[in-house]
Amino acid sequence: PVSRAGHLLDDLNPAQRRAVEHAGSPLLVVAGAGSGKTRVLTRRIAYLLAERDVHPGQIMAITFTNKAAAEMKERVADMVGARARSMWVSTFHSMCVRVMRREAKTLGMSSNFSIYDSDDTRRLITLVARDLDLDPKKYAARTLAIHISNLKNELIDPETAAAQATNDLERRVAEVYAVYQRRLGESNSLDFDDLIMRTVELLQTFPDVAEHYRRRFRHVMVDEYQDTNHAQYTLVRELVGKAGGEIPPAELCVVGDADQSIYAFRGATIRNIVEFERDYPDATTILLEQNYRSTQNILTAANAVISRNPNRRDKTLWSDLGEGEKIVGYVADNEHDEAAFVAGEIDRLVDGGEVNNSEIAVFYRTNNQSRVFEEIFIRLGLPYRVVGGVRFYERREVRDALAYLRTLANPEDTVSLRRILNVPKRGIGDRAEACVSAYAERERISFAAALREAVDDRVPMLNPRSRNAIAGFVELMDQLGEMVEREDDVADILEAVLEKTGYRTELEASEDPQDHTRVENLNELVTVAREFTELELPEGADPVPSLPAFLERVSLVADADSIPDAESDGVVTLMTIHTAKGLEYPVVFSTGWEDGVFPHMRALGDPAELAEERRLAYVGITRAQQRLYLSRALVRSAWGQPSANPASRFLGEIPQDLIDWRRVEPSRSAPAAATTWGRSASGGIASRGLSRPAPGKAGWKDAPAMKLEPGDRVTHDKYGLGRVVAVDGAGLRATATIDFGNSGTVRLMLIGSVPMTKL
Ligand code: ATP
Ligand code: MG
Repeated sequence: PVSRAGHLLDDLNPAQRRAVEHAGSPLLVVAGAGSGKTRVLTRRIAYLLAERDVHPGQIMAITFTNKAAAEMKERVADMVGARARSMWVSTFHSMCVRVMRREAKTLGMSSNFSIYDSDDTRRLITLVARDLDLDPKKYAARTLAIHISNLKNELIDPETAAAQATNDLERRVAEVYAVYQRRLGESNSLDFDDLIMRTVELLQTFPDVAEHYRRRFRHVMVDEYQDTNHAQYTLVRELVGKAGGEIPPAELCVVGDADQSIYAFRGATIRNIVEFERDYPDATTILLEQNYRSTQNILTAANAVISRNPNRRDKTLWSDLGEGEKIVGYVADNEHDEAAFVAGEIDRLVDGGEVNNSEIAVFYRTNNQSRVFEEIFIRLGLPYRVVGGVRFYERREVRDALAYLRTLANPEDTVSLRRILNVPKRGIGDRAEACVSAYAERERISFAAALREAVDDRVPMLNPRSRNAIAGFVELMDQLGEMVEREDDVADILEAVLEKTGYRTELEASEDPQDHTRVENLNELVTVAREFTELELPEGADPVPSLPAFLERVSLVADADSIPDAESDGVVTLMTIHTAKGLEYPVVFSTGWEDGVFPHMRALGDPAELAEERRLAYVGITRAQQRLYLSRALVRSAWGQPSANPASRFLGEIPQDLIDWRRVEPSRSAPAAATTWGRSASGGIASRGLSRPAPGKAGWKDAPAMKLEPGDRVTHDKYGLGRVVAVDGAGLRATATIDFGNSGTVRLMLIGSVPMTKL
């Protein structure tokens, strides 16, 4: 009879099995992509529960995204049943929110604190910098924010930052940092980095609190350990505890791959994985060498690229899935041509029944590259989903509505309060706001308290009109506040906000079609809130009033959380390579392999950044299971300027016999053959690409666009007879996609004198 352990260990190789069974000393599993690190972690949890009588409440596992956490929990539940629910499986940030909500009072905060995301952070830093009279040109809020974030990731407090500062910028940063922290405190708020930093502070300052968590969590596990920063590293150490103490240290198991460290810009350091054995002297290290994800061709390409990085430990990684298909290479004329190629291939693969849409992913280096793909996918009716980019929760109207909710949940949240003070417009101008703010600073009271004083006419320099407007606002917020006190459903509170403030009515009355989209987005937010209210609370979860719980959920939604469910959604997934970490797809299109794009411009002159970009290339390639496409464009428009980009140096690092080049760079003597662009009388448009014809160029800008409709037949001087498939844009941006039969399908600009006649 097969024991349950046998069942859990059956489909693991010997090294994986050792990692799952290992007990006692700290364990590090290091291995290349697709070697089953995440699988080991998941299986280890199931094994602890099933075979080592560990209680689920004793398990803490940390993943890189909330989505990965949910998946891991689900997998474990599949193996051991519903009791998996009371484990803590979450991201670092979610875990810290949970701890901080419980322990906020210990740190002198109240447990309804707000969580500031990067936009809120930047707003508050802007306010602080303005109060400190800093020249915004010299000290941009963005720059200050990055520096402060770096300090927090290194667990450096404002005083230490000031003491360590060696130049003017660092001194200013320290100064802003100090005021910023004070203002965060006054707002009863934490930013993202604080969640980690303050939790560390909590555990280090209050031994009894630390002891509580150490007693509780006897098993700590971390996935993607190569992307932890110093603060996260310290947090793990504090949770695990030291030998020799009253409580023996928790069992620690971390898995990772130094070659996949791609978050240095957020302070991640491979030091943590490279020096694990120094940090935990009795550690055991297990290497995994078999890759179960990709075909050998894909793996060979990935290994070839990453082996160019200096100072790395070489690993063996092999696959027995066979050589597989060759990698397909494609050199496009420009980004539109590249997108058309990708769309065409997807169509072909799906039509051939080989894969379905959900098994396909398209990667790019930066979010703004998604637009071109979206355009063509929409035109062709190809279902897709973009992960990341301008996210739902970053849209103005959504943020406004959430700012109302946040102000209601936490009146001290000054950033949210000031955001909505005059939204929609209610006659509280900048001057009035400044008066109230100055008063609040001087009296050392919160902005919300100062508003109340303004109603009682205690704020100087405020004119009666503003005072009345403020009184109306305070009254409105008090009314809404009653709903919060009654613990009404968050969806009802949100509805009341949209009604009573007149926010929705104003948008509905607007002529601007964008405003109608905004109304839809707000309705979508109400739906999200409604669903949230109806969610069943997991067993053992603390019952939290729905408003704070809802806001917490919303604050922590990371990019990767909107990744569609592979099975349920028949859509192609578009995302940056960063977001793709840890994922796998049967078919991957990795695009934009150009020096200056990927590797990123910033990295070209910097060996450390270049090494990080190369790791990113490694991550991108190793997401593919069966088919990998690599493409680049000869000309790409960025920021409205077309530029000719050379091939990515990483392409040259792949053994060329692994690549089947479907289209190569046309030789310079015969450029016409490769051109898929319309000519214009003024010349030059073809090489400028479609995206943004420079406005103001005389000659063609005023020429009327040719009027075409789908289905029209045309004859083109170069391509011959064709049928219009689609027409997009208007005026300067008008284009037509025309099927010219054997000459291919071409997208042409319709402005200027097109050498084409409508039949
Ligand atoms: P990454 O470095 O990209 O995070 P990873 O090392 O975490 O990769 P997993 O995602 O755990 O790798 O595994 C990659 C794939 O290989 C998954 O589909 C997994 O189910 C499969 N796999 C792992 N180990 C085995 C095994 N022993 N037998 C069969 N399939 C396996
Ligand atoms: Mg993994």
